[in-house]
Amino acid sequence: MTVLVIGAGVIGSAIAWELRRRGASVVLLESLSEGGQTSVASAGMVNPFSLTPAETPALPFMLHSLNLYPDWATQLYEAVGIDIEWCRCGSLRVALHDSDAQSVRATYEWVVRYEAQAQLLSAREARELEPVLTEECSLALWLPNEGWVHTGRLMRALHAAAVQAGVEFYRGQPVVGFLQENGRIVGVRTAGGVLRGDAVVVAAGAWTGALLHTLGIHVPIEPVRGQILVLSDLPQPVRHIMTSLIGYLVPRANGTVLLGATREHAGFDLRATAAGMHHLLQTLARLFPALISATVLKHTVGLRPGTPDANPLIGGIAGFEQLYLASGHAYHGILLAPATAQAVADLVLNGQTDLPIAPFDPARFLSA
Ligand SMILES: Cc1cc2nc3c(=O)[nH]c(=O)nc-3n(C[C@H](O)[C@H](O)[C@H](O)COP(=O)(O)OP(=O)(O)OC[C@H]3O[C@@H](n4cnc5c(N)ncnc54)[C@H](O)[C@@H]3O)c2cc1C
Repeated sequence: MTVLVIGAGVIGSAIAWELRRRGASVVLLESLSEGGQTSVASAGMVNPFSLTPAETPALPFMLHSLNLYPDWATQLYEAVGIDIEWCRCGSLRVALHDSDAQSVRATYEWVVRYEAQAQLLSAREARELEPVLTEECSLALWLPNEGWVHTGRLMRALHAAAVQAGVEFYRGQPVVGFLQENGRIVGVRTAGGVLRGDAVVVAAGAWTGALLHTLGIHVPIEPVRGQILVLSDLPQPVRHIMTSLIGYLVPRANGTVLLGATREHAGFDLRATAAGMHHLLQTLARLFPALISATVLKHTVGLRPGTPDANPLIGGIAGFEQLYLASGHAYHGILLAPATAQAVADLVLNGQTDLPIAPFDPARFLSA
């Protein structure tokens, strides 16, 4: 079976590698010279709980994906020798004032049903764990099993592993349309010609909507711009992820930290703006005043593939046989990549999956 995968971000690349490892012939098509700008620009948190506003039917799938990470990181290392720096460093969801503390307590009530090690910490305990935290901190939720990966390394590893396994990877090849015969999708059109396949997987991130328009399919996937600052020369080290209502800090193995992130509806505008930097520096001053003297090393931008319920679209589309969607992973594409790869490989090769993907059925947005 030959599968054409459109988009070499974390989702398309993970799917291509998984399909190839299960024996399919795979062609991975990427419009740019390097795929996955959004994925590289991401903060890399593997965090089912800390930025999830309420209990959601997506949690079983999120937890499954979190549990896949240690083996996935090992398999990538064994395949191509790139360490993606998977680190189960734990995270603190910090409350900044009393009304926020109520929301953190409410979060604890549902999180603890999935994560027995979740723990509420007093402000003193939280600041003992992370002295850079503001004195405004009133309470924190400790989530020891959340972690982080280096997204630049992850993307390099996935691309290398896919190619090494035998995936044909074409960069600079935008897909501009589909070949359709009797209600069945049988290939794609690219700028360079036509490619035929037995199945087509669309993993084009924030650009998925435009591509599916060529088939008359409307999916509500919209870009949500995210800006991040990379900070170095910290006056004291940071060891854990810290998230809050207004922003987050993610420690990296080399001693730098990521300060994120804006959430902006700015279309496909990929500029790093002064307003974005201003917002992030205000967050820094409020949450981690001890770090205000750090060096701003980099200012990066990515376009999250946002959806109305912040959940992805994973599965087929009625009336378009052999067309599969794996897009719209919004705030959790890095977390969800390994499980999405398994689920899509199951669907393409076996026609069904045992993984809990019902909440992600594209039909929820496609009814007439
Ligand atoms: C600032 C920021 C912080 C984030 N932090 C986190 C986090 O901590 N944890 C987490 O889990 N998630 C996080 N995310 C979200 C995560 O990055 C995304 O959900 C994920 O990267 C989406 O991956 P993707 O492969 O769907 O999209 P992309 O990485 O955008 O890849 C899609 C690819 O498709 C290609 N493409 C588009 N159209 C075509 C076409 N017609 N033909 C061929 N190729 C095409 C694009 O060029 C692109 O390379 C963050 C995102 C941002 C911006």
